[in-house]
Amino acid sequence: MPTRRRLDDAACPDKKTFRISLTGRVQGVGFRPTVCRTAKELGLEGEVRNFGTSAEILCSADSERIKVFTERLRRLPPPVKVESIDAEEVAPRSFTGFHPAESTGKPHLSVLPADIGVCGECLRELAEKGNARYRYPFISCAQCGPRYTIIRKLPYDRGGTTMDVFPMCGLCREQYSSLKDRRCYGQTLSCPDCGPQLTGIRRDGARTEKEAAVLDARGLLEQGAILAVKAVGGFNLVCRADRAESVTALRRLKHRPTKPFAVLFANLTELSSACLVSSLERELLCSAARPIVLLDRSPKWRRSVCDEVAGAYGLLGAFLPAVGLYAMLAENLPLVVTSCNRSGTPILFRDSDMREYFLSHDAVSGVFWNRREILRPADDSVARAVCGAPQILRRTRGYEPEPAVTNAPSGNLIALGAQLEPALCLASGGRIYPVAVPGDLDELSTRSLLKDTIADLSSLLNIRPESVVCDKHPLYYTTGLAHTLGLKCVQVQHHYAHAMSVIAEHGLKGKVLAVCFDGTGYGDNGSVWGGEFLLCDGASYSRAGHLAEIPMIGGDISMKQGWKSALCHLEYAGLESSDPRFPVVRAALRCGVNTIRSSSMGRLFDAVSAVLGLCRENTHQGRCAVACENAAAAALIAGEAPLQMAFSESGGVFDPSPLFPVLLSAKDAKTAALGFHRAVIRMVVQMAKEVGAEQVALCGGVFANRILLEGCRSELEKRGFSVYWNRSVPPGDGGISLGQAYYGLLKG
Ligand SMILES: [Zn+2]
Ligand SMILES: [Zn+2]
Repeated sequence: MPTRRRLDDAACPDKKTFRISLTGRVQGVGFRPTVCRTAKELGLEGEVRNFGTSAEILCSADSERIKVFTERLRRLPPPVKVESIDAEEVAPRSFTGFHPAESTGKPHLSVLPADIGVCGECLRELAEKGNARYRYPFISCAQCGPRYTIIRKLPYDRGGTTMDVFPMCGLCREQYSSLKDRRCYGQTLSCPDCGPQLTGIRRDGARTEKEAAVLDARGLLEQGAILAVKAVGGFNLVCRADRAESVTALRRLKHRPTKPFAVLFANLTELSSACLVSSLERELLCSAARPIVLLDRSPKWRRSVCDEVAGAYGLLGAFLPAVGLYAMLAENLPLVVTSCNRSGTPILFRDSDMREYFLSHDAVSGVFWNRREILRPADDSVARAVCGAPQILRRTRGYEPEPAVTNAPSGNLIALGAQLEPALCLASGGRIYPVAVPGDLDELSTRSLLKDTIADLSSLLNIRPESVVCDKHPLYYTTGLAHTLGLKCVQVQHHYAHAMSVIAEHGLKGKVLAVCFDGTGYGDNGSVWGGEFLLCDGASYSRAGHLAEIPMIGGDISMKQGWKSALCHLEYAGLESSDPRFPVVRAALRCGVNTIRSSSMGRLFDAVSAVLGLCRENTHQGRCAVACENAAAAALIAGEAPLQMAFSESGGVFDPSPLFPVLLSAKDAKTAALGFHRAVIRMVVQMAKEVGAEQVALCGGVFANRILLEGCRSELEKRGFSVYWNRSVPPGDGGISLGQAYYGLLKG
């Protein structure tokens, strides 16, 4: 039996053998060679093996050096992430040197590493004349390169990835097996002689290869063309960001009239000329996931980005290259990069699907791809810095399928999410793994991808779910699917699942007041909920308060029409409107034609935005609400005082009617929008004081609103509340499966 010793009992300098156990992100990130190098620097002898989420190191040395070693291991730089580390003395063994060892025995838990953006060292080599990988678009090393999107089976080594069709050349093989080399055990290792190559085809059929293809793509982009480019998680549509005609053509091609695009910059210097970047935002931009980060614009943003990209106001989504190819294409030429898909369907990731798309879409001037197969699609992730912390708004490439929670109750299950922003979660061994499904569940192709993802991930992660968790909405596709899986089915109310996702992320215990503000969710009483105060305690909750449920015109179209929400609110408040459509809406409401009762905060934001003339139509999700937030932000920046207004309250039910006469007579939309935000924040504080729970969770898609999140947080913290919100999954429906999974695990 090994005896456990405290490491600081270093009285005896004699050599002993220790077993060091680690957990965390230790696979697919160059962990073993890094450990070997670190050990050798310290003159240690031993071996290292890893099993998915854990690793084991056996080594012989005196206690003092082991202590230094474990400290160095604990602080290994990203993408390695050590969550726990423990050392114990075992029976003495002797080693010669320090080596990676084959993993023996079956790992208890599997981990599938996320894709890692091209690292700084590789980018430097990409630009270094004379380097073997100079201008090689798919340069990578042991610390960077695709993972999740190319893994066929675990354990993660080259034979189990779609790199298996590229046998390594002499140079790559030598670097792969040399512990001194930073490419040691780099499974995606390749070079211009042996790896994937860029191939291009223009609309007229002209083909180019390798460097000529890079130059051709670049030339076409400079001329303003729209290209399809195969990236990490699928094909992108790409064009220059400073040319209005190109971006407008891209909008037509994508059937995307208004939703902002993100802009790819070749490097941080170019990005910083268009956007203001804090140190936290810089960290996010450069992180292994390389997400799109929402940033304030610099005064000079118009030099590289035209208004057609993301309008003239508000934040700009910007990001840095995740692959060498993009670093070359975007140099001094910021690019709009968006997923290539037919509206509502998943991003194209198979070469054959792309061929078909190219044939039927003349606006695309050329396709640039390579032979490395993508097994699973992944959109670009979106993140931001808010309240001094990073927050993921779309958790896809670079984050999935790593666990978002690692200390949940044990149990094997699957949670299917809601309807919008489809994302499912698998859970096993206390870990919850969220994976997004790109596309819209009204589309058959998205539905079949969702089903494929369930099968694919359960098999890869070796999880056999015993139950399935879904929403209570009877008409969600996921609800129907849940009942066909042949598993025990658990249904969770939509907003309670939002609350649970925050509770899961932060491991909250005891009473939590969850403020759940979103567009729509099926309520326990059959109404449409969306402005909810839920008092949660373990696996139960009560509705402590809510926005007044007011009669509204139902249906998916009405959800998009801010003007219609406005007319419903005006009618409820007993006010008139000069809008010629008002009599029809009023008649429908009075006769109860296609009406619902709704406490939706999302629709209240839409109504306010429309009444103030800021935006009347959600041509993309959240557009009216963002217009309202931007107007409030403009008032804040100008230091203007908010227009005073307040909800009326009775027994925890908040009636927005008193807001509308003030809004209707407002002279300035900006100060009125700010006044509305303040009224919502005061309502939240009032409710928190009445309920008296120390912990408050802010959740639901409405909390993508920065002014609202920051305002609620600071006003609540001032009064002694502890405030939590989603950070590692989106606050909207994309994060709901995490809450569903956690609830399922709690219930057992
Ligand atoms: Zn690298
Ligand atoms: Zn090679």
